[in-house]
Amino acid sequence: MDHEGLRLWSKRAADWAADYHGGLRDRPVRAPLVPGAVARQLPGAAPEQAEAMEVIWQDFERIVPDGMTHWQHPRFFAYFPANAAPASMLAEQLVNAMGCNALIWQTSPAATEVEQVMMGWLRQALGLPKDFTGTIHDSATTATLSAVLTMREQALRWRGLTAGLSGAPVLRFYASAETHSSVDKAIRVAGIGQDNLVKVATDDMRAMTGAALQAAIRADRAAGLQPAGVILCAGGTGVGAFDRIADCVAVARAEGLPTHVDAAWAGSAMICPEFRSLWAGIEGADSIVFNPHKWLGAQFDCSVQFLRDPGAQVRTLGLRPSYLETAGREEIVNFNEWTVPLGRRFRALKLWFVLRAYGLEGLRSRIRNHVAWAAEARDQLAALPGVAIITEPRLSLFTFALQDDAATEALLTRINDDGRIYLTQTRVDGRFVIRVTVGSFDCCREDVMVIAKTVRDLLA
Ligand SMILES: *Cc1c(COP(=O)(O)O)cnc(C)c1O
Repeated sequence: MDHEGLRLWSKRAADWAADYHGGLRDRPVRAPLVPGAVARQLPGAAPEQAEAMEVIWQDFERIVPDGMTHWQHPRFFAYFPANAAPASMLAEQLVNAMGCNALIWQTSPAATEVEQVMMGWLRQALGLPKDFTGTIHDSATTATLSAVLTMREQALRWRGLTAGLSGAPVLRFYASAETHSSVDKAIRVAGIGQDNLVKVATDDMRAMTGAALQAAIRADRAAGLQPAGVILCAGGTGVGAFDRIADCVAVARAEGLPTHVDAAWAGSAMICPEFRSLWAGIEGADSIVFNPHKWLGAQFDCSVQFLRDPGAQVRTLGLRPSYLETAGREEIVNFNEWTVPLGRRFRALKLWFVLRAYGLEGLRSRIRNHVAWAAEARDQLAALPGVAIITEPRLSLFTFALQDDAATEALLTRINDDGRIYLTQTRVDGRFVIRVTVGSFDCCREDVMVIAKTVRDLLA
């Protein structure tokens, strides 16, 4: 395979992609689950001699697509979406072709500068004030880890970086039980220890309140422990919980603690002004993460972190050994210094393409439709005998269940074996419930209406 071969085969790949997407509605959304079925079809070792691309291609078509769960399927209502808008896929093809590594400015100046400009576009689109700048990580997990490491080092006055943690005071962090497991992972990996992540009780809306946060911090101070940071939830993964951001930020500020807000899913919806009351007070946060790769259409991986002052994070994560210096260019930004990995993909190009190809109005109308259709699907499900809505829609996410866990679990298995739609589960107050989240880039109203129709058929 040489570059002339790539020219021919990438045209064939473009045709394949169009046919694949055009045929998605005819495929079951979730892969049939037979562990080992794909691996069994592959030889146990790499070939010694080059193989013809025709043969490789045939094997791909024979083995891979049927072994996939189709994330771009218009009836994918599981987890959260991982939308890949067509314009995003095109941008990724171009990035692929350049095969670049944007580790520092001079290794890919356009990658750094498009990223800087896109962070400005998105900041304004979300209604955030001018004092936020941003960068793109691979995932919200990495962004939250970066934020936690920064808060740790702020508390330790940057001594953890050099002296390590063994002689350091015990640091305490605060979050609600609705936060994603990536917060637990960050706390563990950062050497804070799971026992020092205080899970603050939530109110009847599953929100952490300022009063509950205040009480938890006071109790720790009274016990001689050192509070170090607060992680707030804006659209939790389970049922879409939002902490009371304004109250919690005010408490954190009064206590001298930095805040990081996890809006990985719901952040995209904030391009619509009418949803911003859900995270009212966000302008007081120090760090915010949201994933355009979930609901906005810039495909995985694309996780944006906004920072009020990147200085603290760069001081925590940035290293500039002599082989990474850019002679005579001290003013440039090297985004690797804002995050954990050194090597970086050119992720901003797909944001540039998506924001231009659909426009903010086009993206807003998609999100508004998803929210409206989710409410409709909720009403249709609620009207079915035996179905109870367990949590009401937060944006486009709600949950439902049957009379007991066993019946709900059995229904979920039948739904996903049926293949018309794909749903996943969570637990609410210990109860097994089925999550519905509407957000696929290409879904239309009829696709969403298939949810209640499928459940009705299977319960009949
Ligand atoms: C999806 C999600 C995450 C994790 O996102 P990754 O980018 O996969 O690390 C974190 N928090 C929330 C609220 C999420 O919905």
